[in-house]
Amino acid sequence: MTAHDQMRAMLDQLMGTGRNGENNKFQVKYSDPKVCKSFLLACCPHEILSSTRMDLGECPQIHDLALRADYENAQKKKDHFYDIDANEHLKNFIADCDRRTEQAKQRLAETQEELSAEVAAKANSVHVLAEEIGKKLAKAEQLGEEGFVEESMKLMGEIDELRKKKNDAEQEYRNSMPASSYQQQKLRVCEVCSAYLGIHDNDRRLADHFGGKLHLGFIKIREKLAELESTMEKRRKERREIQDRERGGSRYRSRSRSRSRGRDRSRERRDRDGRRDRSRDRRDRDRDRERRDRDRRRSRDRRRASRSRSRSRDKRRSKRSRSSSRNRRSRSHRSGSNDRKK
Ligand SMILES: [Zn+2]
Ligand SMILES: [Zn+2]
Repeated sequence: MTAHDQMRAMLDQLMGTGRNGENNKFQVKYSDPKVCKSFLLACCPHEILSSTRMDLGECPQIHDLALRADYENAQKKKDHFYDIDANEHLKNFIADCDRRTEQAKQRLAETQEELSAEVAAKANSVHVLAEEIGKKLAKAEQLGEEGFVEESMKLMGEIDELRKKKNDAEQEYRNSMPASSYQQQKLRVCEVCSAYLGIHDNDRRLADHFGGKLHLGFIKIREKLAELESTMEKRRKERREIQDRERGGSRYRSRSRSRSRGRDRSRERRDRDGRRDRSRDRRDRDRDRERRDRDRRRSRDRRRASRSRSRSRDKRRSKRSRSSSRNRRSRSHRSGSNDRKK
């Protein structure tokens, strides 16, 4: 790692990768592990269920629409496989909800007056019809609001039919028990959102439940999970293939790395020997230097003595040598040009 890389890594650690102008309020890139991948795929339960009775509070991971846009652009160029992460997240979330639903059912079974199997079946058919009415009513209202009057009217017709069936089912249920027992509200748990529904809830109340943000939010999450699940096997395989391909490269690298590690070890051994050699060398060299220094000192002294004697002679000689060297140079220049002509 170069000093520049080290500095960069340190700054990244301190300030996040947002420091290079990818400005968002969280100072992170969409690929940051702190960013909620389910949110990037628009299916985080924290977002979908916000301001419902089951509001989960703020997601522990970052939600930012600008990052979702970044991700959507990047995903067009390179497959990120975030759907695999989102699938895990939703699967765990829904598993938790289903566990809660089972617990709620268990609680009801313990606290509510137990019905015989026959009566329970009758109660159930009331529930089923009530649920159907509630859903259709919610849908009819939605269609009406959106201006699809004809479709809405058609649904209202179907609802009338269901109401008749439900009245019959209620009558049967009522006849199967004493009036005092019938008065008691029989609760059941919504399989989609684990809310409690009562057997005596009116159509309006049921429509509010089935058309409400909580129940619809859960439908959205469950549908998204089912959609993700349907491709998961293929997607995991695709990711594994890409990882294998990448690891294939790195496997080669790691093999050559271990080979070079072996090389390093032998180099180390050699180095150790070398160091021994070198220290021996150094000792020799030191001895040599001492000898040389002694010699040099001696010769310097000798030269100094001779120089003072021959200084006047040297001056004369240097003048002569300069002129002769000039002649030599011009001669060599000429010969050079001749060489090139040949
Ligand atoms: Zn989230
Ligand atoms: Zn529900």
